[in-house]
Amino acid sequence: MKPERRKTRQIQVGGIPIGGNAPIVVQSMTTTDTCDIHGTIEQIHQLERAGCEIVRVAVPTEEAIHALPKIKAATHIPMIADIHFDYRLALLATEIVDCIRINPGNIGSRTKLREVVKAAEDRAIPIRVGVNAGSLERELLQKYGYPTAEAMVESAITHVKVIEDFGFTNMKVSLKASDVHLAVDAYRQFSEASDYPLHLGITEAGTSITGTVKSSVGLGLLLADGIGDTLRISLAADPCEEIRIGFEILKALELRHRGINVIACPTCGRLEIDVIQIANNLERRLAHIKEPITVSVLGCVVNGIGEGKEADIGIAGGQGVGILFKEGNLVRKVKAADLEEVLVEEVEALASSRRKKSVQTKNGHHSTINEAHASSL
Ligand code: SF4
Repeated sequence: MKPERRKTRQIQVGGIPIGGNAPIVVQSMTTTDTCDIHGTIEQIHQLERAGCEIVRVAVPTEEAIHALPKIKAATHIPMIADIHFDYRLALLATEIVDCIRINPGNIGSRTKLREVVKAAEDRAIPIRVGVNAGSLERELLQKYGYPTAEAMVESAITHVKVIEDFGFTNMKVSLKASDVHLAVDAYRQFSEASDYPLHLGITEAGTSITGTVKSSVGLGLLLADGIGDTLRISLAADPCEEIRIGFEILKALELRHRGINVIACPTCGRLEIDVIQIANNLERRLAHIKEPITVSVLGCVVNGIGEGKEADIGIAGGQGVGILFKEGNLVRKVKAADLEEVLVEEVEALASSRRKKSVQTKNGHHSTINEAHASSL
């Protein structure tokens, strides 16, 4: 059953709503040197094609600040500047980006924080208060002994209150840890105490496999509780993978339906076609499709169409000749060697007709990004 979302207040990051009833937003972070303008633009374009809805870039120096306008002008999704230690960089970034991520605990004195908050207010952009178990304030570590969920929540609530005292509430909050239990406990406790939208993440989760498992377990627990308004999967891998995993987690919980959902049989001794290769090829070849379509690949027709009944479209292998089916009904027989090609063409056609229908039902005044966003609810 689809989890019921906990009600949070809503903010906007460059026109993308976060919190409230808005779809859970999938974001990522560039891995390029931000001063490498060309490389960073190229990576953001790749992320956009992968479905990334908001991108975060590290801004560690003034040189990186100077790179931001060109990067912003050449890309299409909202941009968040990630800033530590130097409040002047945060001030400068507010002039350019759609949101800043700071850890108020390391940005400097209260006066400096007040200046940053004022700059964000003047530009009407939100702030992500990013608390991390690895960089908690010394007083909290002394009080709790080590990074606990309670310490992280106290840190987040203290920062939020200080910023609220400046009259600013345009915030979202993250409480990241690389320990799954710690992160889950911290997010759960914070969501009991506050209705600010939450950015979920298991930090330094690991490589593709370990990071995906840790993130899926941690974020899965939270999302199943209805907690979380935006997320980033942190992987030591190509950031486009982070986007794919993010959407797969949301799809598994029926919280978002974006793009192709490939169902493949686990294969067995009755296998008539190379299901594993075809399923992998389909995920790669159809990755550009945003419309939600469930595609089934079955190795034989023994349980064939019945097993694929939930799919919009699918194939089942046979000796030399397989079948193409739609919504559980046989459409036609296809030479086994042509099954993958025929399926790709059929899915492309189905996606195109759904795209046209969805555009017709809109008033035609949305931006491309917002259309993509709406079509993937
Ligand atoms: S669809 Fe056929 S090949 Fe695939 S697991 Fe079922 S019986 Fe085996």
